[in-house]
Amino acid sequence: MPRPLLGRYLVAILGCAALLGANYVHAEQVVVYSARIEQLIKPMFDVFTKDTGIAVKFITDNEGALLARLKAEGKNTPADMLITVDAGNLWEAAREGLLKPIESKTLDANIPTHLRDPQKQWFGLSVRARTMVYNTHKVKPGELSSYEDLAEPKWKGRLCLRSSKKVYNQSLVAMMIAEHGEAKAEQIVKGWVANLATDPLSDDTRAMEFVAAGKCDVTLVNSYYFGRLLAKSPSSPLAIFWPNQSSNGVHVNVSGAGITKHAKNESAAIKLLEFLSMDKAQNLYAEVNMEYPANPKIKPDEVVSAWGSFKQNTINVATAGELQAAAVKLMDRAGYR
Ligand code: FE
Repeated sequence: MPRPLLGRYLVAILGCAALLGANYVHAEQVVVYSARIEQLIKPMFDVFTKDTGIAVKFITDNEGALLARLKAEGKNTPADMLITVDAGNLWEAAREGLLKPIESKTLDANIPTHLRDPQKQWFGLSVRARTMVYNTHKVKPGELSSYEDLAEPKWKGRLCLRSSKKVYNQSLVAMMIAEHGEAKAEQIVKGWVANLATDPLSDDTRAMEFVAAGKCDVTLVNSYYFGRLLAKSPSSPLAIFWPNQSSNGVHVNVSGAGITKHAKNESAAIKLLEFLSMDKAQNLYAEVNMEYPANPKIKPDEVVSAWGSFKQNTINVATAGELQAAAVKLMDRAGYR
């Protein structure tokens, strides 16, 4: 009896479709606004979705645009999570009231205190070390010691720096204010300016290219830029030096994330945030962008490990946000453009 059979099939098919539809509506998802590029975050989200069944939707843009969008959308925002680089940006998002505090034993256990917001509105997920890169033909590692030492007259005409407009340098100077106070920090920055071989450069890579070309001897960069440059030009005469190892340690910053104040999928978003602090995602930060895992239980990737281990400065990275405005003014007074 072909007809009733077909009828039954149809009922079954329609029933399945309705079920799938219902499932789709109720399926868990997280919506992410990310200032980090798709190439880095998508592999992490794919693993998360595979492990948990929770879908991740995301948009990427620069942090300024994303913060403006979150502010404009207010409680109607579809975003559950903000991902961005630099504690200064995360601090700003929290100050604008765009994030909410999150209590999570997993995050508390995985992310060291100095790499997360004391109010728990954001958590560092990867560590970026701002360190020295020098020309091995012109500098012996024994001559190098600390950020402060680069202000000494022996470095006159030998230093290259990236522009003070970049938040990375603002955070570094903010940390120096926290450590030394404004007066001494200003003296140090003035010393750097006096030692510059050339006007401040547009980015970290350009600064290293100047060092490699012999136009200056040493510069300050985030170590992943060193990794990228070396991958492209393996014969370049550059090496990394970890400063301040006999004092407070290397200046570190983070990339990180927080849950938005008006998250509609908060519990799924917390699961994603926790996932990002665990081994699979932590390894990807290292593999894809040569950053250091924020979770100290995870080893950095092989290329990065070869640069040697170092002591990190454990001043809370939130300080970079708190003192950012003071740092900008200080650099201006010191003539650091
Ligand atoms: Fe960068």
